[in-house]
Amino acid sequence: MKVLVSGAGIAGPTLAYWLARAGHEVTIVEQSLELRTGGYLVDFWGAGFEVAGRMGIVPELRKRGYIFDKLEALRSDGSHVATAKTAKILKAGENYVSIERSELASVIYGSLNGGAELVLGDSVKSLNQNASIVEIEFESGSTREFDLVVGADGLHSRIRELSFGPETEFERYLGIVFAAFQVQGYEQRDEGVAFLCAGLGYQVLRLTLDRDRTLMLISAGYDGERPRDRADQEEIFRDALHDGGWEIPAILDAMTGSTDYFFDSVSQIRMPSWSSGRVVLVGDAGAAPSFMAGQGSALAMIEAYVLASQIAGASNYTEAFLGYENYLKKFILSKQDAATKLRLAFASRNHWELFVRNSAMRIMAIPGLSDLVMGKSFHDRIRLPDFKKAESLR
Ligand SMILES: Cc1cc2nc3c(=O)[nH]c(=O)nc-3n(C[C@H](O)[C@H](O)[C@H](O)COP(=O)(O)OP(=O)(O)OC[C@H]3O[C@@H](n4cnc5c(N)ncnc54)[C@H](O)[C@@H]3O)c2cc1C
Repeated sequence: MKVLVSGAGIAGPTLAYWLARAGHEVTIVEQSLELRTGGYLVDFWGAGFEVAGRMGIVPELRKRGYIFDKLEALRSDGSHVATAKTAKILKAGENYVSIERSELASVIYGSLNGGAELVLGDSVKSLNQNASIVEIEFESGSTREFDLVVGADGLHSRIRELSFGPETEFERYLGIVFAAFQVQGYEQRDEGVAFLCAGLGYQVLRLTLDRDRTLMLISAGYDGERPRDRADQEEIFRDALHDGGWEIPAILDAMTGSTDYFFDSVSQIRMPSWSSGRVVLVGDAGAAPSFMAGQGSALAMIEAYVLASQIAGASNYTEAFLGYENYLKKFILSKQDAATKLRLAFASRNHWELFVRNSAMRIMAIPGLSDLVMGKSFHDRIRLPDFKKAESLR
């Protein structure tokens, strides 16, 4: 089949890898002019790590990634709350790496090894499907036909908007905005340690990267209209963190000078159905869990892998899309529900929530007790399908 995948992030190239392996003709269209570099870091673990293993990319991910084995939790004045071992909290053992999202995307894309056509700097403008085909008009003006179209174009998916309706119908805003940015030459450097500093209504994460770079991620509770203008966005964080001690004044100053700045809302996407005729959604486009899940990229890979397995094993696309949703919906919903409960970790609303958060941090730091705080949300209770077996069913 001829398949158009919109988005060369995490889900898109993963899906393309498995579809190409099953002999499908895949085109990826990506709106950016080049595959992105830099950006924020993702913790990568769980069943998504297993998918990466099946794609043979784990050694490359380890090479390009980081291990932050220590987590230092601080109060807003810089006083110590707790020190925890990250891998112990995630119970991930060796199957865990922190990596720039763009590097993860690049490694996944690299694994395709030319197995799919890549169109950069373009996007789907309109989409018309009938019983046998989907007609696509691109922003560039060209038109093409495909058997299936996959929206892997992230939280603000164009394919979702064109085929299912406006974002507002499916977005669940969790009352938090964030800014992620890299700083060159930030004075304080602590290799392998993740610093989490939380005050009333906000949290700041500082991670030391290679090549003298530091990644900052600030989250803050916010109920107003989400601004488009960068100066207005920065103002939200200045307001929210105005009483912050520790390195917070320096981090706010660094935000203004940073070139690699990314702002967005912390939102989930919840949809009654992930497919509409010949169009299907994968990754954040159909089921964003929000960054509070700490697992969005891993889930995007799981979804892509399961969708490809279903397409490989089913006798038609309707059966495949149904199988994909039945296989994953409950699991993904449980991840989304678990993530919403973590709000107090990223932007506690009152002193009681801040107290609970800090107490939870201390409990998590005690070996073997992280489950008391996190419940089962850090466990992936899913068995991945066997791709070869799925292929052999047809
Ligand atoms: C600050 C932050 C921290 C996070 N931390 C973690 C973490 O620790 N662990 C984790 O697993 N996940 C984390 N996530 C979540 C993770 O990044 C996402 O869940 C994951 O990237 C989703 O993959 P995706 O392929 O669905 O979407 P994306 O990675 O967003 O990729 C979408 C792609 O589609 C492209 N695109 C968009 N619109 C169009 C269009 N109209 N036409 C063509 N292309 C288009 C985009 O340019 C992009 O390349 C974090 C997210 C954020 C924001």
